[in-house]
Amino acid sequence: MALYAELHRHLGGSVVPRVLWRFFQRNRTDLTSQFGQYEEFEDFYTRPRNSLAEYLELHTLVESVQNNETLPYFIYRLMRGAYIFENLAYLELRYTPYFRTPEDLSQTQRIDHMAQIVQTVGQASRLQEYPIITSQILCMHSRLPYEVNRAIVDLAIQMPEYICGIDVAGGDSLYGDRLEEFVSLYAFARAHNVKTTGHLYETVQGCHPELLPYLMRIGHGIQIPLQFPELLPAIADRKQCLEVCPTTYFKTGTLSEIQQLKVVFDRCFDAGVDIAICTDNAGLHNVRLPFEYENLLTHDIIDFEQLRTCQVNAFRHAFAWPLNQEPSSILQSALRTEGKPVVPIS
Ligand SMILES: [Zn+2]
Repeated sequence: MALYAELHRHLGGSVVPRVLWRFFQRNRTDLTSQFGQYEEFEDFYTRPRNSLAEYLELHTLVESVQNNETLPYFIYRLMRGAYIFENLAYLELRYTPYFRTPEDLSQTQRIDHMAQIVQTVGQASRLQEYPIITSQILCMHSRLPYEVNRAIVDLAIQMPEYICGIDVAGGDSLYGDRLEEFVSLYAFARAHNVKTTGHLYETVQGCHPELLPYLMRIGHGIQIPLQFPELLPAIADRKQCLEVCPTTYFKTGTLSEIQQLKVVFDRCFDAGVDIAICTDNAGLHNVRLPFEYENLLTHDIIDFEQLRTCQVNAFRHAFAWPLNQEPSSILQSALRTEGKPVVPIS
C-alpha cells in the first residue's frame, strides 16, 4: 500500500463525529440532549459554515472536552483511524496547548500546565499497534495574549522530542493589528531553530506579506496564487510549501467552486511552488486524506503525476520525518534488488 504524510491536521478537528458522539454519550449527555439521534449530530457537526469565524467556533466545542485526562482517549482513536483508513506513515498534529489546560487556573498556572499536555499528547500518539511517526506543531493563537504565545514558542524550544514546529491560528483576519508581535515571535523561534508554519493567505482578509519571510511552510496560502500570483517566484525561491486543504475552503465559504482550486494548483506548478495536500480537520469534515486525493483527481483539478508530486512534497517538507527518502522510494529500492538473494526477515 502507499504510505502518506499529513502535515496539517488539528487535534480538535481530527475527532470524527461518531467518536465525539460516543464520548458525549458516555460523559457529557448535556451536549447530546439537543440532538434526537446521531444523524442529527453528524449533520450539525459537518455541515458547511458561512465563514471561517463561524467554522472555528466548532473547535471550541471539542477543545472544551479535550484535557489531560481525556486526550489519550481521543488520540488513540485518531491514530487507529489514521493507520487503518488513511495509510499514514507520518503525521504532524497541531493544537494550542493552552486551550487544553483547566479554565479555572490562573494564566500563569495554565502556562505551567502546558508542558504536561505536550507530554500527554506525545506519549498517547506513539502506539506500537498503529505505528506512525508523529510530532506536534504548537499553535499560537490570535485570541491569546502575547505572554501565552511567547510561552508556546518557549515550549517548542524546550521540548524538541515532542514538538517539531510552531504555527499561528485562530482566524487570519485577526492578526492585522498584532503583526509586529507575531513577526517578533516567529523571528525568535527561527533564531532558536524552531521550524515554522502559519495560517496565512487562507482568506482574503488574511493576506499579510510581512509574515511570509518567517514561514518555512504556509498554512493554506491559497490566496497567493489566486490574488497575488506575483508573489509566487519569491515563495519558490524561499522553497516554501503551501499546505492546501481542499475541503476546508468549501466548509468555510472561502471558495464556492472546486475549479478555483485548479487555478491554485496550476499557478503553483507553473511557478515551481510546492504544494502538500492536507486535511486540516479530517474529523470535522468527515473526509480522510485519501478522499481529498481522490476528489481532486475526479474533478480534474490535478492528474496522477501531479498528485504523486504533492505526496512526495509532503515528505520532503515534513518537519520531523527521520529518513532521507519517502516510503515509496524505499520500496522502489527494494524492487531494484529483485533477482538478488533476499535476506529473510527473522
Ligand atoms: Zn488549519
